[in-house]
Amino acid sequence: MIPYGRQDISDDDIAAVVDVLRSDFLTQGPVVPQFEAAVATYVGAAHACAVNSATSALHVACMALDLGPGDRLWTVPNTFVASANVGIYCGAEVDFVDITADTYLMCPDALEAKLRAAKATGTLPKVLIPVHFAGQSCDMARIGALAKDYGIRVIEDASHAIGARYRDAPVGNCAHSDIAVFSFHPVKIITTAEGGLATTQDDHLAQRMRLHLSHGVTRETDLMQGPSDGPWYYQQVTLGYNYRMTEMQAALGLSQMSRLDDFVARRNQLAAQYDALLTDLEVGCPAQSADSYSAYHLYPIQVADRARVFSDLRDSGLGVNVHYIPVHLQPFYAARGFARGDFPKAEAYYDHAISIPLYAGLSDADQLTVVNAIKDALAKG
Ligand SMILES: *Cc1c(COP(=O)(O)O)cnc(C)c1O
Repeated sequence: MIPYGRQDISDDDIAAVVDVLRSDFLTQGPVVPQFEAAVATYVGAAHACAVNSATSALHVACMALDLGPGDRLWTVPNTFVASANVGIYCGAEVDFVDITADTYLMCPDALEAKLRAAKATGTLPKVLIPVHFAGQSCDMARIGALAKDYGIRVIEDASHAIGARYRDAPVGNCAHSDIAVFSFHPVKIITTAEGGLATTQDDHLAQRMRLHLSHGVTRETDLMQGPSDGPWYYQQVTLGYNYRMTEMQAALGLSQMSRLDDFVARRNQLAAQYDALLTDLEVGCPAQSADSYSAYHLYPIQVADRARVFSDLRDSGLGVNVHYIPVHLQPFYAARGFARGDFPKAEAYYDHAISIPLYAGLSDADQLTVVNAIKDALAKG
């Protein structure tokens, strides 16, 4: 089977993990800070906090921004459930902003209209989470400017987008946001098996995320109440979690970082080939903004008869998938008052979406197999 996505593991990656297994530290050693420094340098951020998943990274980001009961978090329906769930973890209310019909990213016009209405009713959100769907950055200049106008904090869900660029600068530099979050799940651009990371330029936010990712415990005397009892002393100053990344995960991530640009270049090459190979077919391809160099986590196509084409592609041995079922239609969120019709662009996109295979290790020959299977499936209709 040709999957829709998969990891690329080299002998160097394996050796790096084995080295850690033979070392003194499996957790809380030197490699996690090395991995954090490598990502911070790559994206041009002052701080990087590695954690055990992007979900945890989004959660510590929300906690660092003081999201709590009585607050609101807005994200898009076209995302993985985690982007919304972190709001619920914090006791906040979750709402959504619809996407554009061509890029499938948060629509700045929809955001502006919703912000104006929310201001009039005193229901502005505290935190906004735009999602760089499929690896393409949202229109962060406009989203960031709107957030500033309305006094809202921004967390970029860049789970799909490490290695991507926006206006010739790396995604994750937080030029238009407070915090950006990456995922290192095996289907994403680089992997640590499970793992995630949050970047920020803000010293205070970085300090707060570090507290929350390890039990709310600190050994830094300037964060303590009163004097230290001695060199053994630590204090718990807030409620945190154990969201730490292990040394094995960080070693894998650090080794993968050296191939990040190659992975993204190959994904772009494959995407350009799909654009060309699918051009004469009854298939909608994802639009790209001139501001964006996508990391191409996904290549989502639009087809008229999605259910049948999806089944035919699965039957022909392709591990196609659908990203995403609109979050507001999940029973958990429907029970909170959302229904079909609330976000029509995300719903219309979902109704026709299929994610076709795209990963750095996909061969040109396998890509042709995919395209021919799509041609056959469409011809049957
Ligand atoms: C994968 C993903 C997440 C969650 O990542 P984990 O590392 O699996 O927790 C969050 N948001 C989006 C958009 C994702 O694709």
